[in-house]
Amino acid sequence: MNLIFLGPPGAGKGTQAEMFAAARGLKQLSTGEMLRAAVKAGTEVGKRADAVMKTGGLVSDDIVIGIIADRIDEPDCQGGFILDGFPRTLAQASALDRLLDEKGKTLDAVVEIRVDDAALIERISGRYSCAKCGAGYHDLHKQPKTEGVCDQCGATEFTRRADDNAETVKKRLLAYYRETAPLIGYYYAKDHLKSVDGMAAIDDVARQIDQALS
Ligand code: AMP
Repeated sequence: MNLIFLGPPGAGKGTQAEMFAAARGLKQLSTGEMLRAAVKAGTEVGKRADAVMKTGGLVSDDIVIGIIADRIDEPDCQGGFILDGFPRTLAQASALDRLLDEKGKTLDAVVEIRVDDAALIERISGRYSCAKCGAGYHDLHKQPKTEGVCDQCGATEFTRRADDNAETVKKRLLAYYRETAPLIGYYYAKDHLKSVDGMAAIDDVARQIDQALS
């Protein structure tokens, strides 16, 4: 099963993609994560992406399309994948159509996670992750079971993303509405769209996604 999880920053795409991927044996592919890894590693792609990501803009289509084109050929994607944060522009969506076609793969569904704008800033500013394994947490919505200890790997160091601040979040939201929201109509017209209410509790959203895709 090959899926796209679509929604504004803070909608819960990463959290839901992680849960659904684990439950169904799919590979979660987050272009944001891959770009942050490239920035950290200081690669050529990382150097080109770094300044744009800091301002909340979108990295150029050719960079992210190149990353995904290579990544979905890897053995760990052959049992199915969830694209989390890609595509983000109509050009990326068309490139993905072509890529899947060329590789003889199909897109099974696009899950749109709907969230009120007002909730997004609060959601984003409260989030953090384990510095060791990357597991995601939130000050209000998802604390580790033991305070200060990662549920998944037991590490005690956590980090917050540099672009998860109120000013950059507004720019990321603008980029979403300008460039990414048109994809909702694009995938609706292709009969791929399944919309869920992302304002519900994390487990409720997961149940909705499960039902929508069963
Ligand atoms: P995310 O982790 O999905 O919120 O992505 C973090 C940042 O990475 C975004 O604000 C963009 O600057 C960049 N980014 C991630 N995915 C894409 C994409 N598909 N197209 C362009 N830029 C992207």
